[in-house]
Amino acid sequence: MPAPDYALLLDPPAFPAERYAVLADRLAGLMGTKNNVLLIQAEAVLALEAAATSLARPGLRALNIVTSPYGAWFGGWLERGGATVRNLTASPAKPIALHEVERALDEGPGFDLLVIVHAESASGILNPLPAIATLAKDRGIVTVVDAVASIGGHTFEADRLGIDIAVIGPQKALAGPAGVSAISVSQKAWELLSHGAAPENSMLSLLDQKKLWLETGRSALPGTPAPLEFFALEAALDRIEAEGLASTNERHKRAAFATRAGIRALGIGAWVEEAHASALVSTAILPDTVETGAFLAAAAGQQGADISGGVGPGAERLIRLNHTGRRANPDAVKANIAAVSSALKSLGHATDSDSALEAVERSYSEAPARRL
Ligand SMILES: *Cc1c(COP(=O)(O)O)cnc(C)c1O
Repeated sequence: MPAPDYALLLDPPAFPAERYAVLADRLAGLMGTKNNVLLIQAEAVLALEAAATSLARPGLRALNIVTSPYGAWFGGWLERGGATVRNLTASPAKPIALHEVERALDEGPGFDLLVIVHAESASGILNPLPAIATLAKDRGIVTVVDAVASIGGHTFEADRLGIDIAVIGPQKALAGPAGVSAISVSQKAWELLSHGAAPENSMLSLLDQKKLWLETGRSALPGTPAPLEFFALEAALDRIEAEGLASTNERHKRAAFATRAGIRALGIGAWVEEAHASALVSTAILPDTVETGAFLAAAAGQQGADISGGVGPGAERLIRLNHTGRRANPDAVKANIAAVSSALKSLGHATDSDSALEAVERSYSEAPARRL
C-alpha cells in the first residue's frame, strides 16, 4: 500500500461556523442529554482537567472514586484548586464496590461533588455507575462522570442517570478524532461552577465557554477552531449515526463476549467477572510462569492484533486485548486471540489456539448478547 499523502490535509477550508452548534447537539444526542454540551479543542484529559479546575475552590467537598490513574489525576486537580477531596480508591485495577461508596457518602462530610469513571480502558473494568448515580442524586450531590472510554461501548444516558457533568472523547469507541472532546453541564452543575475562584480567560475555564459561546448564541467558537478535527468529528458522527448508537454498543458487547470466550478457552484467567468487565478492552492475568515483558514482546507486531499491558497500580500482570471502536469486529477479536495464543506458546505455555478461535466463532454465532 502506498503511503497516504498527508499533504492532502494542508490548507483545509474553515469548518463552517454554523455547524459547531450542530456538532454539539449531535454529541448531546449520543450522550442522552438536554444539558449544555461544550466542545473542547483538545484530547479528553484536558476536558477532564478543565472540569476539575473550573469546579475547584476552597470549601468544595468532593468524593472522588479512583479506579485508574485518570481518577487519581482528577482528585489532584481538585486539590490544586483548594478543594477538600476524599479519594475512595478501589482494590487495585478493580471496580469500586457499591457498598463502599454508600459508606463513604454516609460518613460524609456532606459532599458537594461525586466523581467517577464509567468504564476503564486501563484495566478493562466497568464501575456500577447507575446505582452510584442514584445514591448521589438521592443526596443532591452533583455528579461528574468520565465517560471517555464508555461512550459508544456501553449504554450511557446522562439525563436518565441524572449525570450533571459528563466528559466524553470521540477517539475510543466512537472511532473519531483524538483532538476534540466534549463536556455536558447541567443547570445544577453551572451553579457549582459559578464561584469567585473560578478561572477566567483560560482554556480550562468552563465559565469562559458559557460567556463566550453559549451566551453569544453559539455561532462560532471563540479562539481558533481546528478544522481538521471538526471535519473528522462530523464524519465520525455520520458513521456512528448511520450504524445507530445501540448497534455500536451491541457490536462492542459482542466483541467483548467473544474475546472472553476465547480467553477462557485459552485457559488463562479473565481479570474480572463478566458483570464488571468493560466492553472496550478485555483483560486477563498471565500465568505465573510467563513474564509480562517477554509476553508483550512476543505478541507485538502480530498481524491484526492489538495487545498491550495494563496501565496503573495493580495492572502490572494484566494483558489487554483491544476491541474498541473499529476493532470491535470478529476479525480483530480472532487476531487478538491468535496473537495471545502464539505468544504464550512461544514462551513455553501450551494453549489450544484452534479451540479458542472456535469459541470466538461460537460466541459470535449465538443470539445477540444480553444487555449488560
Ligand atoms: C482514554 C481515556 C481518557 C483520556 O482520553 P484522551 O483523549 O486520551 O486524553 C480519560 N479517561 C478514560 C476513562 C479513558 O479511557
